[in-house]
Amino acid sequence: MAQTDPLLMIPGPTNLPPQVREALGRPGFYHRGDRMAALLERCSDGLRHLMGTSGDALILTASGTGAMEAAITSLLSPGDPVLAIEGGKFGERLREIAVAYRADVTSYVVEPGHAADPGQVRDLLSKQRFTAVVTTYNETSTGVMHPVEQIAAATREAGALMICDCVSCLGGVPVRADEWGIDAVVAGSQKCLMLPPGLAFVGAGERAWEAAERASMPNYYLDLRRARASARKGQTPWTPATALIAALGAALDIIDAEGLEAVFARHAAMAEATRAAVTAAGLELFAQEGFRSPTVTAVHSPVDSSDLVRYLRERHGVLISGGQGELKGRIFRIGHMGTVHFEQIERTVEALADGLTNLSFGCDAAAMLDAARQAATDAGAEVN
Ligand code: PLP
Repeated sequence: MAQTDPLLMIPGPTNLPPQVREALGRPGFYHRGDRMAALLERCSDGLRHLMGTSGDALILTASGTGAMEAAITSLLSPGDPVLAIEGGKFGERLREIAVAYRADVTSYVVEPGHAADPGQVRDLLSKQRFTAVVTTYNETSTGVMHPVEQIAAATREAGALMICDCVSCLGGVPVRADEWGIDAVVAGSQKCLMLPPGLAFVGAGERAWEAAERASMPNYYLDLRRARASARKGQTPWTPATALIAALGAALDIIDAEGLEAVFARHAAMAEATRAAVTAAGLELFAQEGFRSPTVTAVHSPVDSSDLVRYLRERHGVLISGGQGELKGRIFRIGHMGTVHFEQIERTVEALADGLTNLSFGCDAAAMLDAARQAATDAGAEVN
C-alpha cells in the first residue's frame, strides 16, 4: 500500500490485498461466456463453504442492503408476521425493509451493546405464530454478535424461517447455516471478503426455496428465484460487476491458501489484541462480555469520538469509525477484518494512544501496545 493510502480500520470497506487489486485491473471479459460460468461456479462453491450450506450461494450486484432486501422480498409475502431482532442499526434496517414491503413486523428491541436473549426469542415465538425471524449475526453498530445458533434453533422449532444478516462477519467467523438452521444467509463483499463494495451474497437452503414459491412481495432486480434460475446456467440474470466477481475469485483463493480455520483464528486474535489495548488505556468495551465481535470492537469513548476519528484520519492516515445514530460521538469502533494482521493493529493502537492523549485523555501508549502484543501472542498470532 502506498504511503498516502489510508489504513482502513473501519468495519468495512476494508483494505484490498494486492491479488484482489490485480484481479480488479485485469482486461474485461464477457459475462455470458464459459469463463464467467467457471468463475461463478468457483465463487459459489467458495461462498457455500464460508456459509456452511449445501444450498445455493447467489451473487448479486448490489451492496449488502441489496442482499437483505433480496432475501426478505423473495421469501416473504405482504402481511406475513415477522419477528425482527433489533440490537442496533442493522437490525433496524432489516425491520425497515420488512415494513417497507408490508410485512406485519413485531420488534424485539435489544439494548445497544447487549446480545439478543434466545430465551426471550423462544418466548415471543411461543406467543404468536411468525413466518420469519430476521436478525443480524454481527451487529456492526455495537460490536455485538448475537447467539444466532440458539436463535435459529428456537426459530426452527417454531416452524419459522430464519433470515440472518452476516454482512460484517462472513469469512471472519464460522457460519454453519445448514447445521444451525439458518435458511437464508446475507453477506456483502466489502468486509471480511476483502473486496470493494458492490457485490452481495445470499445463501439459501431448501426451506427458503419452498418459501420462495409462496412469496409474493414485489421485486424484480433482486428476485432470488431469477438469480437461481440464471445461476443454474452459469450466469446472472442481469449484467453483473464482472471485475468484482473476478476479484472475489482471487479473495476466495487467498482465504483457501491461509485456511479457513486460520483466518478465523487470526480474526479472533486481532480482536483480542484490540480489546486488550483499549482496556489497558482504561477504556470500557461497549459490547457485553461473551458476545464481543471478532471483526469489530466498539469502545465507550472518553472524548467526542467524532474528534478522535478526525484526528486519527488527519494525523495518522488511520481510519476508524465513530458511533451511529444515538451512539454518535459516544463510542468509537475499530474494524479488524479481512487482511488485518498485528502490524495494522499496532499502527492503529499507536495512533489511538496519540489521539486520546492529544484530546486530553492521558494514556500510556507503551502499555497499550504491550497489552495488544501479549493478547495477540496468547491467542496464537504472529506479532512480527
Ligand atoms: N448489515 C450489516 C451488519 C452491516 O455491517 C452493513 C454495512 O455496514 C450492512 C448490513 C449494509 O451493507 P451495505 O452498506 O453494503 O449496503
